Amino acid sequence: MVEKYYDADADLGVLAGKRIAVIGYGSQGRGQALNLRDSGLDVIVGVRPGKSWEKAIKDGIEVFQVADAVKQADVVQVLLPDEDQARTYLEAIRPGLSAGKTLMFSHGFNIHYGQIVPPPDVNVVMVAPKGPGHLVRRLYEEGAGVPALIAIEQDASGDARAVALAYAKGIGATRAAVFETSFREETETDLFGEQAVLCGGCSALIKAGFETLVANGYAPEMAYLEVCHELKLIVDLIYEGGLTTMREVVSNTARYGDLTRGPRVIGPETYAAMQEVLEEIQDGRFAKEWILENQVNRPVFSALTRADEEHDLEVVGAEIRALMPQFKK
Ligand code: NDP
Ligand code: MG
Ligand code: MG
Repeated sequence: MVEKYYDADADLGVLAGKRIAVIGYGSQGRGQALNLRDSGLDVIVGVRPGKSWEKAIKDGIEVFQVADAVKQADVVQVLLPDEDQARTYLEAIRPGLSAGKTLMFSHGFNIHYGQIVPPPDVNVVMVAPKGPGHLVRRLYEEGAGVPALIAIEQDASGDARAVALAYAKGIGATRAAVFETSFREETETDLFGEQAVLCGGCSALIKAGFETLVANGYAPEMAYLEVCHELKLIVDLIYEGGLTTMREVVSNTARYGDLTRGPRVIGPETYAAMQEVLEEIQDGRFAKEWILENQVNRPVFSALTRADEEHDLEVVGAEIRALMPQFKK
């Protein structure tokens, strides 16, 4: 089993007298910065002038340009979009780093694939909440926390793990559980999870189910309700008690169909594709493709995004949700 840490394993005192700069004030930046502040820590934000800058000011947090925030901080948490981190690092973060400071990330992509190469005399650690930023904030306010991963890539000061754990406590993660990992393991499992299961696998499965029903003459509305709308109810059950709880709640007919037909839908071809997808992550091919895609202004990303936005599933889904009060904003 991996090493786990809770509140008692972490000491906020390690960060006493230290200033934390949260770089970026989006999903993770906002959630983490507000939690750190409410935990009594000295936190500032580094962003560029714009929407995020205004939001931080409204939240009552001191805001600086990225370079100015880094210069005055002991701990620098980089919460910019992964594809923007390397450039901002060179321009505005690297110049402000000095011996003994801690450079922190919530995802290992840029360190693991060599897009950011920090100097040897700084700590390089990860504190990565396993949930989106608004949940990091909401659960903290409710007295709970989102679990997180920590990883130590470089321990220049000798207390890098204590710093990472104190930060994890500051954002509320040790109230749930903090798991120890490595930059490599976090990066590769995170990319694989979002590609094969959470985002990629799941959207492809929904689309395939929807298209199959519609191609066989069933109403798109019926297809949407069945393979998309209901999915949340099933996932909630799995989240609460695993496949076992879900199977206890659905009908016996559904359960028998699940057990006998599921493995036919996700069969040997899918296992082979998953293996291939994982190997492209492990050998850097996916990272290279995504980095180059960004350098040419994302033509593939934009075309594929537009095609799916125009898919019948999305058109019908929007119409149906507009009829249901629970989706009214
Ligand atoms: P967001 O896209 O939500 O936020 C990015 C922030 O960076 C915004 O405040 C944006 O400000 C700012 N920013 C972008 N470019 C620049 C720049 N050139 N200079 C200064 N500021 C800039 O990012 P996320 O919170 O989603 O992701 C941050 C990190 O957290 C990533 O490493 C990601 O992998 C990781 N992570 C994300 C999770 C999630 O659920 N979202 C979960 C776990 C980890 P502006 O308004 O000016 O554009
Ligand atoms: Mg990810
Ligand atoms: Mg059904």
